[in-house]
Amino acid sequence: MHRQSGFSRSVSRKMLVLAVIVGIIIAVAVPATYCSLMLRERMQDSKLHGELLADSVVLAIQDNEELWRYDIPRFMDIGNRWRNQEHIVSMRVYDDNRQLLFEKINRAESFALFTTRAPIVFNASIEGYLELQESYLDLLVNSGITLLVFSLLGFLLGRVIYRIVASAERITREAVVELTVSQKRLQKMAVTDAKTQLYNATYLFSAVKDAVELARSTDGFLKLAILDLDYFKKYNDFHGHVAGDTILAELADLLRQSVRPSEIVGRFGGEEFLVIMPNLDDTAALSLVQRMRTMIAEHVFPGAEVLPGGHLTVSIGLASYYPGMSSTELMNQADRALYAAKEAGRNQVCVVSGRDFFINGIKLVSVGNIAFASKTFREMIQAIDAEKTVSIVSSQAEALLSFLKTLDSRENTISQHSFMVNKISMAIGRKLGLSEKDLGELHWGTLLHDIGKLGISDEILKKSSTLTEHEYEIIKRHPIVGFELIKHNDYLSSAAKIVLCHHERWDGKGYPHGMKGAQTPFMARICCVADTIAAMAEDRPYRPASTMEQILAELKRQASTQFDPEIVEAFVVMQTQPSHFYAAYERTLAQQAFN
Ligand code: GH3
Ligand code: MG
Ligand code: MG
Repeated sequence: MHRQSGFSRSVSRKMLVLAVIVGIIIAVAVPATYCSLMLRERMQDSKLHGELLADSVVLAIQDNEELWRYDIPRFMDIGNRWRNQEHIVSMRVYDDNRQLLFEKINRAESFALFTTRAPIVFNASIEGYLELQESYLDLLVNSGITLLVFSLLGFLLGRVIYRIVASAERITREAVVELTVSQKRLQKMAVTDAKTQLYNATYLFSAVKDAVELARSTDGFLKLAILDLDYFKKYNDFHGHVAGDTILAELADLLRQSVRPSEIVGRFGGEEFLVIMPNLDDTAALSLVQRMRTMIAEHVFPGAEVLPGGHLTVSIGLASYYPGMSSTELMNQADRALYAAKEAGRNQVCVVSGRDFFINGIKLVSVGNIAFASKTFREMIQAIDAEKTVSIVSSQAEALLSFLKTLDSRENTISQHSFMVNKISMAIGRKLGLSEKDLGELHWGTLLHDIGKLGISDEILKKSSTLTEHEYEIIKRHPIVGFELIKHNDYLSSAAKIVLCHHERWDGKGYPHGMKGAQTPFMARICCVADTIAAMAEDRPYRPASTMEQILAELKRQASTQFDPEIVEAFVVMQTQPSHFYAAYERTLAQQAFN
């Protein structure tokens, strides 16, 4: 039941009071008016009786000269006619000296009397008086009945009026309730996502703004988490979008259950969700989102067995508000953390704090918007296998990556470096809209770009002092060695040219062939830029890691000499433009405007 609104309650009370007042007026005023009118009429009536009787007495006197004062029988006769009228109590005749000559008592009644006296006139002189007494009691009894009848009528009328008013009021109230409900429903629809019944992007965007404003003004905590389903495209591809939608709704229920009223959870985009957590500190927020992640991973979603790992999982990016941060910055931070969580193998929570990203308390390597988890060898294989950018079976992936593992054991972080080059190249490749086939080549080519270093001795590879010219010549052979190593592999023959050409320069001053501009395969040019970015972003024994500003400045400086300017431009744009998440919101807004 809907609670009656304040407005309709006051209308109801007013209507009831109005009906009661109208009822009282009718029940009291009408009989009272009637009685007073009747009383006046009766008194008038009695006066007329008196006058008529007095006239008759005179007439009786005229008929009989001798008995003119005492013609009682005659008078009685006349009098009786009037006496039959029940309301007359007594009749008296007085002489002109007001001596009682005659009296006739009709009823013994001594109270509530009123008297009418009429002069008996003969030959224009007053011969005596006739007096009639009547009873108010009759009148009162008559009027009492009338009063009762009218009161009853008034009461009934009041009831009818009340009924009419009450039903009119009920209709009004129902209309008001209905209006209020539909208004609320409309308001709710405007902020609700139809698929999941969670808050929609429009609401979330303004809620984040409000939360930031509140945190700013109260100096309070504010955490923001973005959840993205892992490999959801695979789920849709396998089961269809309708089944995918059911999963989204089921997931939304889980999310709804896991937050308290002070937290806000909503669907921001396709399969992305947002959790706004005001007043939660780092530990509380992390444990809340970890709980969500575990709950989802442990929940049995129908059809989830087709996904890598056999379960539906989410990756989560968690960001904190810091004084001076805008809502957009906060969302971008959470988005970057989400992507780092994806990079780190998914089904993870990545926490961003300033420029640093952490997963399970371990700091990740990050290059601007792209963060990398240090992966174990097995995790790398699993991640590559799950992405399946090229159709390659895991045993082959494992065999290939064992090359990297060998490198790893020799040059502490080389596989991580290769992984970083791979991630940066893939991000640039996607930005430039490469085909899936090209992305597959780029994937393996960049992962294995330094594979030729296997053929270089530890002495040279691990040397910390400046290399001799001869040693440098040996190093410069690694692209050719790498190319020779993998060119005969069916799966890698096309990726091999990336390995061969990743040290060529745009101006033709690179090695091993000194290719110029577009002579170098496009994907090798991407690998070249990514290799430099990754190298600059890493700490080396002889220099600290460069900042993103330094990296961007260096790339711009070397565009058109060392690097393909188009590729540099793509990376620069990626670092400066709003994150994917924000862009998704802009898209939502544009779509809404279009609809
Ligand atoms: P990952 O996030 O782990 O990188 O992989 P993904 O496959 O989930 O990739 P991404 O987040 O980029 O893809 C989003 C996919 O989610 C694309 C689309 O198939 C699916 N999706 C988005 N919105 C909806 C929706 O409303 N209903 C359904 N059924 N699927 C949706
Ligand atoms: Mg996803
Ligand atoms: Mg997504």
